[in-house]
Amino acid sequence: MDDLQYGKRDKRGYWTPNEPAGVAPIWSFPPQVMKIIKWLPQYFFPYDVLWVLSALAWWNWILPDVEVMKTLAWGWILKLFVVNLVAVFVFFGVYEWRLYIKRAQGTRFKYNAKFPSEHPSEAFWFKSQNADSILRIIFHAMPIWTAIEVGILYAYANGYVPWISFADHPWYLLGLALVMPIIHETHFYLIHRLIHTPFLYKHVHSVHHNSVNPSPYSSLSMHPVELLLYLGMALWHLVIPSNPILALYQLHRAGFGAIPGHIGFDKIEMGDKSGLPTHAYIHYLHHRYFEVNYGDGLVPFDKWFGTFHDGSKEGDALMNARYAKRKAQMNGTQG
Ligand SMILES: [Zn+2]
Ligand SMILES: [Zn+2]
Repeated sequence: MDDLQYGKRDKRGYWTPNEPAGVAPIWSFPPQVMKIIKWLPQYFFPYDVLWVLSALAWWNWILPDVEVMKTLAWGWILKLFVVNLVAVFVFFGVYEWRLYIKRAQGTRFKYNAKFPSEHPSEAFWFKSQNADSILRIIFHAMPIWTAIEVGILYAYANGYVPWISFADHPWYLLGLALVMPIIHETHFYLIHRLIHTPFLYKHVHSVHHNSVNPSPYSSLSMHPVELLLYLGMALWHLVIPSNPILALYQLHRAGFGAIPGHIGFDKIEMGDKSGLPTHAYIHYLHHRYFEVNYGDGLVPFDKWFGTFHDGSKEGDALMNARYAKRKAQMNGTQG
């Protein structure tokens, strides 16, 4: 595919899509029906369908009987940890292998023409973005992910929280499943704003931002506190009357689903003529510019609060004007 038909690459090697980043059209008034119809499939495909299927697979094939989960025992917990770990590395690894190791499409559709492996940085353990991210996934992300999962399953198994069954309340659970991406977006936006406050940024979130040029394993390369806050969104299913399968879906959506924003490519080429959109651009811009796009655009929080960047020159101008204004305020000369 010719990526220059879909965007431009500047002299410094940054590729910008012709179509600026946008937010979900469901919030505009009056409703833009055609836009919504065109956009709607991406609310489900491919990612959310995949997380629902993975939650069902875990429930049916990986997790033991509810009776067993009433007790915290190493056997089932370790099995779950190993399966989660392998699944994350297989899933993230497919992207890594194709785009970063085999480099099947070179730098076509890559936002930043540089490959992190060719640019060692002191910011990372062993000066390597990948080594740093992989170790953080093994030793931080997966133990925390599994601990949250075990906590949720243990609470349901013991009847500590209401367990709504699909047989009794199918419409309620379907409705809840449909708003789960919005729960995710809202939770993510709020904790993300929180960890961008100076103290938490310095001690917690800067770990994730070391990947200025993110690649697949950057997805869960986070400080343990950020992992707790982020993956902890699944704990909403202990507060909202729900079902353990939906809790697993929410957890997989956060954990496996961290990847779209960190692929680094706008499209994954599928043959010569078509490419799978990654929807990575909004969050890529967050990694590049830090103080824009705290959310992923499903709920337009960044538009409402003036921090949206669509990747265009106009977006740059808005961001620079905001920074200049803040600098002027800090200098005490209101500008
Ligand atoms: Zn990120
Ligand atoms: Zn951030």
